Amino acid sequence: MEKITIAIDGYSSTGKSTIAKQLAKVLGYIYVDTGAMYRAVTLYAMEKGYVTENKSDIDGLVGDLKNINLKFIYNDTIGFAEMHLNNKNVERKIRTMEVSRLVSKVATIEDVRKKLVLIQKQMGLEKGIVMDGRDIGTVVFPNAELKIFMTASPEKRATRRYKELLDKGEDVSYGEVLKNVEHRDYIDTHREISPLTKAEDAITFDNSDMGLEEQFNRILDFTNRVIKKQKRDVH
Ligand code: C5P
Repeated sequence: MEKITIAIDGYSSTGKSTIAKQLAKVLGYIYVDTGAMYRAVTLYAMEKGYVTENKSDIDGLVGDLKNINLKFIYNDTIGFAEMHLNNKNVERKIRTMEVSRLVSKVATIEDVRKKLVLIQKQMGLEKGIVMDGRDIGTVVFPNAELKIFMTASPEKRATRRYKELLDKGEDVSYGEVLKNVEHRDYIDTHREISPLTKAEDAITFDNSDMGLEEQFNRILDFTNRVIKKQKRDVH
């Protein structure tokens, strides 16, 4: 079967990773959550004191980037890969509000983006990959056969994120989560280097009023159509 590259971009908490993960599983493709990579670099920067709410020592972090080793390791029990930072599983730590507050700031740093984009491009060399993030269809895989741009109202997104964080036992308010979602949207769309923007050839997918099953079926339908077309073009 012809393997394709699937790029899923969009605003924070649009449920990109849930759909991307499910899609990769059904297709037997690799799934890569690039947000987890930016989050892991942020965690490192926080632990080393390079970034706080009030300061950023960009030169310090950039000089230390060579010591950051990121690896996705598949966890059989939960059925997906988890982020490991310098050989430690940081999956739980990178999903906290503390990291969410600083990650978009770290993601504006050119050298951080260069390092991560290079790794991401390498992961996709053989195709058969579903990658989600902010610049996948525009920068990482501009030639991806299928590009989806996910969006939903900030309120719907914040509600989903808020529930997720409560389930994980985090002590947050809905207002704080909404503010964070809007703040990250702002930084992600306004940064100088590879801002979040819809690739010209991406399909806009607004899931404000859609359940998971409907979203998944529609995106699987887009995928099957692209794979079929691909087969026709090759033969
Ligand atoms: O996808 P997630 O919400 O975990 O991403 C966290 C942050 O990482 C985003 O808000 C964005 O600032 C940054 N990011 C990015 N480029 C990507 C993926 C994530 O700038 N490809």
